[in-house]
Amino acid sequence: MRPVIPFISQLQKSEQQEWLGKLHKAAPNESFELAGEIPSAQRHACEIAIVANPDSAVLSSFPNLKWVQSLWAGVEKLIEPAREQGFALSRLIDPQLSQTMAEAVLAWSLYLHRKMPSYRIQQNNKQWLQHDYTPANQCNIGILGLGEMGSTSTQRLVANGFEVSGWSQSQKTIDNVQCYWGKQGLDKLLAKCHILVCLLPLTEQTRDMLNRDLFDRLPQNASLINFARGDLLVMNDLLEKLAQGALYHAVLDVFRNEPLNQDSTLWHNSKITVLPHIAAASNQQTAVKIVATNLQAYRNDGVPEAVVNLDKGY
Ligand code: NAP
Repeated sequence: MRPVIPFISQLQKSEQQEWLGKLHKAAPNESFELAGEIPSAQRHACEIAIVANPDSAVLSSFPNLKWVQSLWAGVEKLIEPAREQGFALSRLIDPQLSQTMAEAVLAWSLYLHRKMPSYRIQQNNKQWLQHDYTPANQCNIGILGLGEMGSTSTQRLVANGFEVSGWSQSQKTIDNVQCYWGKQGLDKLLAKCHILVCLLPLTEQTRDMLNRDLFDRLPQNASLINFARGDLLVMNDLLEKLAQGALYHAVLDVFRNEPLNQDSTLWHNSKITVLPHIAAASNQQTAVKIVATNLQAYRNDGVPEAVVNLDKGY
C-alpha cells in the first residue's frame, strides 16, 4: 500500500479540510491526510507532500520527502527547506491562476489610468474637477517578470489598448509587447513606464529592488502596482517618492508582514491603495486537477512536473 500524502499548511483548519476533500475527489487512488493527524512514527514513510504555506518545523518532521507540490505559485519560503531536506519542489502552474492575476493587473491598471484615486479624494472633498484624459495607447505599462503571471497579464493589457513593455531575466518574444532583459533593458523599460507592475518572484536578486534608485528612473507621476511579494519593496523609499509628488499612486497587495498591522500608517495614506493579498488566490477546483495530473505523472515515471530551480530561487 502507498504511504499517505500529508497536507501541510497553516491555513484555517476548515480551509485545509476543503482542500483535502477536493484532493480526494481529484485523485481517488491516493490517500491524503492533514499533517497533524499523521502520527510521528508514520511520518518517515511519507515521500510526497502537498503544501500551502507550511510551517517549516512541521515540514521537517517528514524527514524522507522526495517531492513536495505547493498549491501556491510563489515558493520563496520553500527554497531553503528543499535544499536542506533534499526534496524536489514543484510550484502551482495553473492557467486559471494566471488569468486571475491578469484580470487583477487590468483592473488596477485601469484604476490608475483613469485616475480613480484622485476622483475618490475629490468626492470626499465635494470637489468637481475634470482631469485631462490620456488614451490607453499613450499609457505605457511595464511588467517586471514575464513568467506565468507576467506574460498572461501583458496579453490582457494589449487587448485593452495599452502600450505594454516587459522585463525578464532571459530574452523573450511576446506578440505586441516590447520585451527587455538585463540591466540596460530595465533602464529602457523604466524610462517610458507610466504604470509599473511587479510580478517578479522574491529571490536574492529581487529583494529590495523596488527602491529609491529604481523610482528615480521612472517618469514623473508614474504609479506602482506590487502584486509580487512585500520584500521586493523598500517602503520608506516609496513613501518618500509619493510624498514628494514624484510618484502618483501605489497599489500594494503584498507586505513584509501580513496581515498588515492595524497601526500601519499605510491604511490612511491617500496615495496608497491597500489590498489584502487578493490579486490571485489559488482556485481549489482547478488547482487540485493540476496536482492530480502531476501526481499521476510522478507515479508513472518518478519525475516531478513544474519543478523549481533551487539555484535560481524560482
Ligand atoms: P515565474 O513563472 O517563475 O516567472 C518569473 C519571471 O520573473 C520570469 O519571467 C523571470 O525571468 C523573471 N525574473 C526572475 N528573476 C529575475 C531577475 N532577477 N531579473 C529579471 N527578471 C527576473 O513566476 P510567476 O508564476 O509568474 O509568479 C511570479 C510571482 O508572483 C510569484 O513568485 C509570487 O510571488 C507572485 N504571486 C502573487 C500572487 C498574489 O496574489 N499577489 C499570486 C500568485 C503569484 P525568466 O523568464 O527569464 O526566467
